Amino acid sequence: MTVTRLLLLGPPGSGKGTQAEILARRLGIPQIATGDMLRAAVDAGSAVGRQAQGFMDRGELVPDDVVIGVAEARLMEPDAVKGFILDGFPRTPAQAEALDAMLERLRVSLECCLALHVDEEELVARLLRRAQIEGRSDDNEQTIRTRMQVYREKTQPLVDYYDRRGVLREVEGDGDIGEVASRIEEALRR
Ligand code: ADP
Repeated sequence: MTVTRLLLLGPPGSGKGTQAEILARRLGIPQIATGDMLRAAVDAGSAVGRQAQGFMDRGELVPDDVVIGVAEARLMEPDAVKGFILDGFPRTPAQAEALDAMLERLRVSLECCLALHVDEEELVARLLRRAQIEGRSDDNEQTIRTRMQVYREKTQPLVDYYDRRGVLREVEGDGDIGEVASRIEEALRR
């Protein structure tokens, strides 16, 4: 059976965006990346963008109600009927509960939560490299440390949350993109 409703959990720099994109293409389902959607909202100068910008620049989480609204609207779009890969949502227990409620309304369930694990020093090094290449405004050392801390405090507990649901599959995220993609494929076959 092919998994078609999944979420990727991992700290900033763990490669979850890259892997979500690869998997979305392979499975033919949309990647739902709240970070990308929020950055687009900021660029467009929309109401959501104006609410999100300050938090994003500081490396803090955008308030739950704003992000939940963005994720819900996207999940309700017709292409998500065939499945989805959530990338960067949920990031807090309140968001995870909101997701449960959305999926219940859609009468579907989450089949798999892939958790990517990467050593923290490696993460910081990767993000600093990305900062030089892409120039993302939240990729500076101070913001990176804040995002790591926020991840540990707010998002890490979701690993247990999905473990208790019996949908967790853990994957080592070190190594190059192809290696991690193969590990994910293998984890999905387990
Ligand atoms: P990264 O995983 O490298 O931090 P993302 O693109 O996923 O990158 O997120 C960038 C920023 O967007 C986050 O630091 C946060 O401010 C905001 N953001 C994205 N998704 C969420 C979410 N689910 N809840 C709150 N804030 C979010």
